[in-house]
Amino acid sequence: MNPYLKRAYELQEEITENRRYIHSHAGVGFDLDDTVERIMSQLRAMGIEGERCGKAGVVVTLGKPGKTILLRGDIDALPIPEQTNLPFASKNGCMHACGHDFHAAMLLGAAKLLKENESALPGTVKLMFQPAEEKLAGARDMVENGVLENPHVDAAFAMHIGTGNSESPVGSVKFTKGPSHASGDSFRIIVQGKGCHGASSYQGVDAISVAAHILIALEEIPAREVPADQLSIVTVGVFQGGSACNIIADTATLEGTIRALSPENREFLIRRVREVAESIAKAFRATIRVEEPTGGTPPSYNNPALCEEMLPFIKEIVPEDKVFVRENQPSLGSEDFAYVSTKVPSMMINLGAGSTEEGYTYALHSPFVTPDEGCLPVGAALYAHCATRWLEENQ
Ligand SMILES: [Zn+2]
Ligand SMILES: [Zn+2]
Repeated sequence: MNPYLKRAYELQEEITENRRYIHSHAGVGFDLDDTVERIMSQLRAMGIEGERCGKAGVVVTLGKPGKTILLRGDIDALPIPEQTNLPFASKNGCMHACGHDFHAAMLLGAAKLLKENESALPGTVKLMFQPAEEKLAGARDMVENGVLENPHVDAAFAMHIGTGNSESPVGSVKFTKGPSHASGDSFRIIVQGKGCHGASSYQGVDAISVAAHILIALEEIPAREVPADQLSIVTVGVFQGGSACNIIADTATLEGTIRALSPENREFLIRRVREVAESIAKAFRATIRVEEPTGGTPPSYNNPALCEEMLPFIKEIVPEDKVFVRENQPSLGSEDFAYVSTKVPSMMINLGAGSTEEGYTYALHSPFVTPDEGCLPVGAALYAHCATRWLEENQ
């Protein structure tokens, strides 16, 4: 057995305890005091002094000067009440429903494996414990606070667990080369009409009717203005307006999300949403305010050459029949690891934490999701081994 994997199994209890502690002390966004304190104290117990980075990030630098590879694990939870009934379930209204408790614990496990092997590392490994992934804000905050410099990062590797689908047997690895996650940008359109009596609508400007025309028109943008093989999405998830059945609504609000797989399409969709909404509003005598997307993320990209290079290292940890390699099968979910992958060659893999066939029916973001902890040692070993092997091949 691979030495890192063997050692990771010896540390299984410790890694699992960290996962459960972080799980039961779930924090959201940058409000991660318990989680960050746990990470810092666990690192200290390993003889590692973690450095704070940005609002709630932690960075660890191990090894010696040379090439640098970054390992990223996100550490934040979601603002949904947990309903798993697990003995270590979170009771504060926030839940690690996206598995970032796993990522944090596995990266801590990797810290220990790498520290024990530090003198043999032929370069530098930087660990990035990242807050606020769910808000698509944490990676940007850490990048702006220098996580990719001093020392400069040459390559980056990240992991996300998956469960509740048929491609996530425990301990398996799946990744796609090329575009890996869509961009994500939210928008809000506030239509200003002119209210009046519902029986004399000609005296007003019906904000609901205008908003309805905008909604239909927005759907034409991905359907009619982007080539069909370039997956693009404009979804409106909130439509609000009106107060009574016999009053022409003064205002109406649309909120939605824009997804694209290339920076060009992202920019195009954001621009067209504004143009189309403004034009429709003008045609119907209304005015609108479009709130610019805030806190969005670019699309992320799995560097094909880095994927090729990492594949054999992954297979040194995970049996070949549990490694699924895809090409151009990106997720239309968003990942703010994009702020790293647009700057340095990067790779993000999916680590299986329970498939439907294995009885795991709930997917991530469900308040009932219970990923399988059996993947924890595999994830810790993958982090440590892929970093070490990459440094050995890139001295
Ligand atoms: Zn998530
Ligand atoms: Zn996530």
